[in-house]
Amino acid sequence: DQGKPHGGTVVTADEAESHRRGLMLVLSSPSGAGKSTIARLLLEREDNLELSISVTTRPRRTSEIDGVHYHFITRERFEQMRDRGELLEWAEVHGNYYATPRDPVEKALGEGRDVLFDIDIQGTFQLYDRMREDVVSVFILPPSIAEMKSRLHRRAEDTQEVILRRLKTAVGEMRHWTEYDYVVVNEDLSRAYEAVRAILKAERHKRARSAAIGPFIEGMVGDLEGELSG
Ligand code: GDP
Ligand code: ADP
Ligand code: 5GP
Repeated sequence: DQGKPHGGTVVTADEAESHRRGLMLVLSSPSGAGKSTIARLLLEREDNLELSISVTTRPRRTSEIDGVHYHFITRERFEQMRDRGELLEWAEVHGNYYATPRDPVEKALGEGRDVLFDIDIQGTFQLYDRMREDVVSVFILPPSIAEMKSRLHRRAEDTQEVILRRLKTAVGEMRHWTEYDYVVVNEDLSRAYEAVRAILKAERHKRARSAAIGPFIEGMVGDLEGELSG
């Protein structure tokens, strides 16, 4: 009778496991460290995890689909969303605006679904200010600068000028490594992926995320006390 309430227990094991608030898994990295690659693997393989689709004023890359990787919007539309309070956080990165729409995130967390964020450091800090309890942040690092540069060239998505700009941003970002909850070096992709997966799995079991675990445990303790005294 696994999962069935015993005697006075009002919350089942299934309910205790599933009735929790979703968490916000934030992946950050200097450009070229492999954050997007790890994010894609997580989204393909993990249940109950969805991507927060950012809005951006950056031009779409040929490999990107509007509404899947980003919502590509104009600067005017961005300003309108920002001024109406529709953005959970926003930042100017590499000369373009990026932001997280608020509604989908709040809905998902309230329904117990976990949300993955591919956002920069400025955005991560804004989420800390607003919802620190919900945020689990992971900083992805390349094994070396040479490897990071070579990955950026191999990706072949950006011009030489854009790559140089991203490398300059990387210096500032890497100095903030101490502000992240976890750090993962992406040398071997499958090992880095497994590390992030383990972080997610452990964080899902954090006591504070489950509203139902207290009543579940208290119910069992009550049952046991009743049996022992009766
Ligand atoms: P890549 O991930 O470096 O290949 O480049 P992207 O164009 O996907 O991301 C560019 C930058 O914008 C990265 O630093 C991201 O972390 C950041 N970014 C992406 N989405 C968001 C977001 O929703 N909020 C914030 N604050 N930053 C974001
Ligand atoms: P980011 O999102 O951090 O800018 P990407 O995920 O786009 O980085 O990765 C940059 C490039 O490096 C991509 O071409 C990707 O396929 C490659 N890459 C990612 N992780 C590894 C790895 N562990 N070993 C070799 N190449 C990798
Ligand atoms: P890219 O242009 O390579 O897609 O993204 C550039 C940077 O912007 C990345 O570091 C990415 O994580 C970040 N970024 C993407 N979307 C958002 C967002 O919604 N908010 C913030 N703050 N950063 C974002």
